[in-house]
Amino acid sequence: MTINNDTPMSLAHLEALTADQDALKAALAVADTAPLLMVLIQLGGDPAWLDRMAPYITGPWSYHDETPEDVKLELQSAVVDALVACVRDSRLPEPLPPKDLLPKMMDVCTGQKVPPEYMPVALEEMDLLDEDPRAVRWRTQPSAETLEHFNVLVVGAGFSGVAMGIRLKQAGIPYTIIEKNDSVGGTWYENTYPGIGVDTANHFYSYSFDVNHDWDHFFAKGDEILRYIRRNAEREEITANTRFREEVTQAQWDDAAGLWHVKTQTADGTVVDYTANVLVSAVGQLNRASMPAIDGLDDFKGPKFHTSNWDHSVSIEGKQVGMIGTGATGMQVGPAIAPVVGNLTIFQRSPHWAMWNPLYFKTVSENKKWVLKNIPYYSKWFRFQLFWSSSDGFHKMLQIDHDWPDKQRSLNAQNAEIRKQLEEYIAKEVNYDPELIRKSVPNYPPYGKRMLRDNHWYRMLTRDNVDLVDTQIDHIEENAVVMADGTRHEVDVLVLATGFKASKMLAPMDIRGRGDATIRGRWGDDDPRAYLGITAPEFPNMFFLYGPNTNLGHGGSAVFHSECQVGYIMQGIRELIESGSSVMEVREEPFWEYQEKVDHKHRNMVWSHPGVGSWYKNKNGRVTANSPWRLVDYRDMTASFDPSDYTFTKINSTDSKEASA
Ligand code: NAP
Repeated sequence: MTINNDTPMSLAHLEALTADQDALKAALAVADTAPLLMVLIQLGGDPAWLDRMAPYITGPWSYHDETPEDVKLELQSAVVDALVACVRDSRLPEPLPPKDLLPKMMDVCTGQKVPPEYMPVALEEMDLLDEDPRAVRWRTQPSAETLEHFNVLVVGAGFSGVAMGIRLKQAGIPYTIIEKNDSVGGTWYENTYPGIGVDTANHFYSYSFDVNHDWDHFFAKGDEILRYIRRNAEREEITANTRFREEVTQAQWDDAAGLWHVKTQTADGTVVDYTANVLVSAVGQLNRASMPAIDGLDDFKGPKFHTSNWDHSVSIEGKQVGMIGTGATGMQVGPAIAPVVGNLTIFQRSPHWAMWNPLYFKTVSENKKWVLKNIPYYSKWFRFQLFWSSSDGFHKMLQIDHDWPDKQRSLNAQNAEIRKQLEEYIAKEVNYDPELIRKSVPNYPPYGKRMLRDNHWYRMLTRDNVDLVDTQIDHIEENAVVMADGTRHEVDVLVLATGFKASKMLAPMDIRGRGDATIRGRWGDDDPRAYLGITAPEFPNMFFLYGPNTNLGHGGSAVFHSECQVGYIMQGIRELIESGSSVMEVREEPFWEYQEKVDHKHRNMVWSHPGVGSWYKNKNGRVTANSPWRLVDYRDMTASFDPSDYTFTKINSTDSKEASA
């Protein structure tokens, strides 16, 4: 059954869908119950279906569905009948279900209570409100001349930089992206280590404005994600506006002109100068490799490389491979290379917690892709389910209960319950091997470090050719890693899965703001701060994407957060242009109030737990990478730009300035 996938919401499409009702019913057999039920209600089906099905949908993931087969068949028939009725009555379903039904639909769809505060963000994520609800539209259209003389310089063409380019293009604002690599994609271009993939479900970990029905996996591998980013960049001509193989080295604010002067260096060393009204950093937090400070690392004679710079010319087949680091990256690399190498010795400084998801290795069948593409509103409700399942559900569990007795190992009753479940899971996966359990169960609370997605890591540990070493590394010799207890582990190849210099944000760029302010001067090596993670005083007309305190540690999707930030930045730029100003700068007061709120919130959250070290916090224990907010809070904070948080300044022709806000 093939249909024109580009026109899913027309009567012609519905007619084509229902031309062969038996085939349609058969096609619906692969549909998940909850989103299909929502389709039925949107098509005008009897709302009584919601109460009938609610007991069977026990959670937001498809594997929480306990609907009996005969009821599923009834539901599928009802959807076919509803589609036929639409065609018969020449009626297209309303994009927005009746307001009184919507909250109940959300509850039933997720098998949980969805508080009303989530309604706006849910409707945005589902793209149900109107076309492209996150687009920022002009209130007063600027003249072509105004726009012609304005330009934005974006640093980095990863997921965030491409989204920024797309929104700037939509608004007709000239922009240039500077990208040090020879492709868009950022993280997903640079990291090519074996096993690379995402551990947030892709039907949510993707742009809300480009819902992809064609994901081959529920949790895609790196190459598929890179193809998705490239597709967006090419379709929206972002690539044409990007200067590849050029790296920003310095940006200097010019207070008199209200402009940024930016220097880049091309691959052959040529220095290029740019001038921009607005500078947007989209370099992210996880871009500069952190090499471990271990004695003798340079003495190692065999091949050694960081995971973000995997050397594919080195054969690891049959080799003795050593891997230092067991974070999100190490956890993906290990199971991918263990079957190939001769022996894998894993050097673990501290274990991470990891959760299993039954969909992790599953591919999306062609039939399911067909349903996603062709059944009206199905993909939207599917995305909503994933949004809900991956967002704020765990946030409460990350808060410290000060009366909780077992503070070292858990934070509160819910956290302790998860701990118990995870401990049982680990024990089962390592075949109840007491030594592996001892090494693998963290002594800190779940979510203290990034919660990982188990990709058969624990099963891998039971392989004969894998050794997990959890004593401290003392030094490295030309062919061995030597532990503090004197044990030597000979290795041919050394893999450094040791993470990134997350706290030293924006390094190595030399960014000079107003007066003598520099980014390094203000942030030091590890104390980055920004209002909403996006703007900082003394750095006018500059915005950060995936900046300080915006990493998501409790759930959610980095793409969601990035879209919130892009939307906010677009509103800021709109304000700047529409107000006829040249300069905007966040005021000290809201900036510091925000820092206070962030730090206060963090003090009661798991990442500040004294027993845990992670890239989330700096050497003083201040959490600098993570957002303390629920997704709904951050969305609400960024959804409407408040000009009173900023000063706006006009620069007239004689170069004198006048404040306008
Ligand atoms: P990471 O989480 O910082 O892990 C680094 C690992 O190296 C840790 O196990 C750390 O031990 C260890 N380590 C660092 N220095 C060491 C030293 N001197 N001696 C011994 N061990 C040392 O880095 P990552 O695994 O690259 O992940 C970083 C972030 O990238 C993730 O949290 C995630 O946000 C992102 N990421 C995402 C995905 C995905 O979505 N699928 C995949 C990969 C990465 P300690 O824990 O004891 O410090």
